[in-house]
Amino acid sequence: MKAETKLAEPQLQVPFHSADVGEAEAQAAADVIRSGWLTMGARTIEFERQFAEYVGAKHAIAVNSCTAALHLALEAIHLQQGDEVLVPTTTFTATGEVVTYFGAKPVLVDVEPDTLLMSVADAAARITPKTKAIIPVHYGGQPCDMDEILALAAKHNIHVIEDAAHSLPASYKGRPVGCISEITAFSFYATKTLSTGEGGMITTGNDDLAARMRIMRLHGIGRDAWKRYSAEGSWYYEVLDAGFKYNLTDIAAAIGLVQLGKCDDMNVRRAAVVQRYNDAFASMNELQVPTTKPDRQSAWHLYPLRFHLDRIKIDRKEVICQLKDRGIGTSVHFIPLHLHPYYQSAYGYRRGDLPAAEREYERYVSLPLFPGMTYEQIDHVIHSVKQIVKANRR
Ligand SMILES: *Cc1c(COP(=O)(O)O)cnc(C)c1O
Repeated sequence: MKAETKLAEPQLQVPFHSADVGEAEAQAAADVIRSGWLTMGARTIEFERQFAEYVGAKHAIAVNSCTAALHLALEAIHLQQGDEVLVPTTTFTATGEVVTYFGAKPVLVDVEPDTLLMSVADAAARITPKTKAIIPVHYGGQPCDMDEILALAAKHNIHVIEDAAHSLPASYKGRPVGCISEITAFSFYATKTLSTGEGGMITTGNDDLAARMRIMRLHGIGRDAWKRYSAEGSWYYEVLDAGFKYNLTDIAAAIGLVQLGKCDDMNVRRAAVVQRYNDAFASMNELQVPTTKPDRQSAWHLYPLRFHLDRIKIDRKEVICQLKDRGIGTSVHFIPLHLHPYYQSAYGYRRGDLPAAEREYERYVSLPLFPGMTYEQIDHVIHSVKQIVKANRR
């Protein structure tokens, strides 16, 4: 007779991310499809209007990614071949990649070990006569030291372009991210705090930069190119420059409008998850919860939990494996850019060049963090992390 196998309890699954989208987004997208006008049009214009109002910016320009937004921003400030742009090494490659589009050099900057935000002192030390711009990344959703960055930029006459892919909604000394510096770039990628699948937004208070980015977003065609197939449009248009195909679709914009309407609520729910994580982990000697500065509010895109590796017997890779065994998805934000083969071969970066970023990279794991997380899921993550730590104490 076959031995009876005991069925294991079904494992509770906690994905790393799940977008907070539902019937309202589906309905909004369906309405656009039924209207027969699929690409950039009235919904996109309305999304731009409401987004500008939400972050307190004069202009908002919708694009199909944050990468496109950053590219258009660097084009608008006339980045040239041979120029240098300061970029934190702890970021996604998009931040550095856009600089290379111009034959310019991304000059990688170390981060503050506590916040993991770009070190302004290290940025200052890397400024040369070729430095044209600085791209602070509001890592994890927390705004960078913007007063210091703006002062540094003013002193050296360089442009500030914020990579705000993580930071909607976030604020610095009471000012929303999106109206602080010359140009800000947002992402609506699938995992970001506001998602349209793919998408992005540029905000600026500068009329000339806005006009340039609007034109270059759609083939370099003069004003209101998108209207040329509508009833009020005309067949005549002028190509003013060799632009790009970076416009957003009305389907995405319709989803974005619904998401924007619940952005504050989603932020409250993310913050509640963070609070529960912090309450559980802050007292454990093996763990380090994210550092937040009192003068700013984070969008809480990420929850990077750091492990004191000298106090446990396993490394970060093993922590990730053991969480996976418990049905928990995690990620690592980020592998510093200077450790990637491309940045090493193209710009000569080596391990050891940016020590704080490297040290911290070895010991952070991003835990699941999304508005729809249930208490059961949050507590499963907490319980699992604690179990793994306790079983591997030195
Ligand atoms: C996601 C991300 C981007 C790129 O956003 P896309 O909309 O996918 O182009 C840029 N910078 C950072 C820091 C990001 O995390």
